[in-house]
Amino acid sequence: MFMGITLGITPLFRGGKGQKNGYMRKIAVISSKWIKCALFALLLALIAGAAAGGAALAAGAVPPDAVVVLDAGHGGFDGGVVAADGSTEAEINLRITMRVKKRLEEENIAVVLTRTDASALGANKREDMLERARIIESSGADAVISIHVNKYTSPSRRGVQVFYGDTGTGGAFAAKLQSVFNTYLNEKYCGRYYSALAGDYFIAKCSSIPSVIAECGFISNSEDLKLLKSSAYADEIAECIARCVKSAAAGV
Ligand SMILES: [Zn+2]
Repeated sequence: MFMGITLGITPLFRGGKGQKNGYMRKIAVISSKWIKCALFALLLALIAGAAAGGAALAAGAVPPDAVVVLDAGHGGFDGGVVAADGSTEAEINLRITMRVKKRLEEENIAVVLTRTDASALGANKREDMLERARIIESSGADAVISIHVNKYTSPSRRGVQVFYGDTGTGGAFAAKLQSVFNTYLNEKYCGRYYSALAGDYFIAKCSSIPSVIAECGFISNSEDLKLLKSSAYADEIAECIARCVKSAAAGV
């Protein structure tokens, strides 16, 4: 931008000083004075504008609509529930989480992850959970979504279900997210409508940030398992989360 302005000014000044005729020269000098003044003012305005623009760029081109912690449940020594084909909940949770992260970022929602690989976050369950809590507390996020998959004795049970901490702040967000899941996923895949349920879940009440657990489907159901292992379904989960987070961030 600055380069373009410099190139524009130079030929104008050269033209003014080059006049031999006195009258024309006077006109040229007056004109050039006014032009100088005008250009100086323009230059100042541009410098101010560029400085403001530069500051905005330095702080990040577009601020995110919201910040979300995605917590891939289990990992390492704790594989979570296991499907009939040997798939573990820990690996499915991580795959869904990474896909959801990608989609949320495309939707201008910043994501903080608790775990990024197959490992646990501590040597035992207590250490692992405390480390997740530490990441959540220091995230400054607008919401926490812990990604899990469910298992039930009856293989016919299907669908996405949301839970929140009985003493946490996630009740309203959980109800909203459950409603979105019901509308966009449960109606489509299993025709079953769930209500968000409260329980004694450490991860959902270890901070003051509205926190929920999304059980994304049942690995004990073969159709759900197929979905849970597909990127397309993870994208649908992400769409629901993005929709809910954005409307919550907008206060709707
Ligand atoms: Zn789980």
